[in-house]
Amino acid sequence: ATPTAVMVATGVAARFGILIKGGDALEGSANIKTIVFDKTGTLTEGKPKVVKFKTFPGLYKDQDIQSFIQSVEVKSEHPIAKAITNYIGPHNLPCSNFYNIDGEGVSGVLTWRDEEITVHVGNFNMVKSKGIRISSKIKDKYHKYENQGKTVIIASINKIGVALVAVAESELVKPEAPWVVSKLHEMGLAVWIITGDNKKSALKVASILKIPESRVIANCYPGDKKTIVEHLQGLNSKDKKDFNKTLLDETHHDDYSVLKDEFNGVMFVGDGINDSPSLAQADIGIAIGGTDIANDAAGVVLLKKDLKDVLITLDLSKKAVRKIK
Ligand code: ADP
Ligand code: MG
Repeated sequence: ATPTAVMVATGVAARFGILIKGGDALEGSANIKTIVFDKTGTLTEGKPKVVKFKTFPGLYKDQDIQSFIQSVEVKSEHPIAKAITNYIGPHNLPCSNFYNIDGEGVSGVLTWRDEEITVHVGNFNMVKSKGIRISSKIKDKYHKYENQGKTVIIASINKIGVALVAVAESELVKPEAPWVVSKLHEMGLAVWIITGDNKKSALKVASILKIPESRVIANCYPGDKKTIVEHLQGLNSKDKKDFNKTLLDETHHDDYSVLKDEFNGVMFVGDGINDSPSLAQADIGIAIGGTDIANDAAGVVLLKKDLKDVLITLDLSKKAVRKIK
């Protein structure tokens, strides 16, 4: 890159609140064929609210279950945790051994009436990976809310399901998102959604944005997101078959044949800690007004959370690269 072209482009970008970290980030977008969006906080505002909260009291009373959930979620920075703690209000117990489980949820140990209890709060991936037992009643309700396109969280005590929380965003997508995606489609780019959230809520967003179902991958762990970016870039193609089988089974994504046509430059747009591996892997990673960790991993940072700035970034890079050549 000629230093002048880079300087001019980064200077113009800065006026839009677009931080371009040097020439590589600019040139990365020259060969972009595919643009991958994280869903929550990127295409959506990322401010979910609790819309259903159901406890299944037995050994523990409703009030106790609520305070157990609260005690663990106050320690999490996740938007879902914020929604839950705002809903329950301030009555928590001291929590030890707190940890985040990537792509699944959170866990902690509480002392309650001289007894140690282990609390898990997270999605169905967590239920499976931790061997949490849930009654058929909870399972039915889980599917019911999920089918409505909500994000459904299960809470358990000592690995027995005791509560269901459904969260949803009041506006399904950011106001500018449909227009931006239609522009990207007009430019001939393949637009994908990759999310840690469930398939139904991802499909709801996709249908508003006119993104085909074959380009929506849900239930992703942060590592999955990175692997998918690699495959879209055309790396790892020799183990593509295995990748198709294992990853697709887990993400409930049925048909991956579409991948082979779309190898090439990949732009990834995301906001969260869970997006940083893919932001770093992509030919150009764009962090959108998100966490410090995402901003560090990305080549471009959009200081406003406006998706239109993705289009401006693409435009500026093209112009800069044309000047370089
Ligand atoms: P996304 O790709 O949508 O930004 P994340 O990787 O941040 O998603 O989270 C994936 C999923 O993990 C969430 O949709 C939620 O089901 C679950 N999860 C993560 N953190 C928490 C938490 N603190 N409490 C409950 N569930 C959580
Ligand atoms: Mg996100």
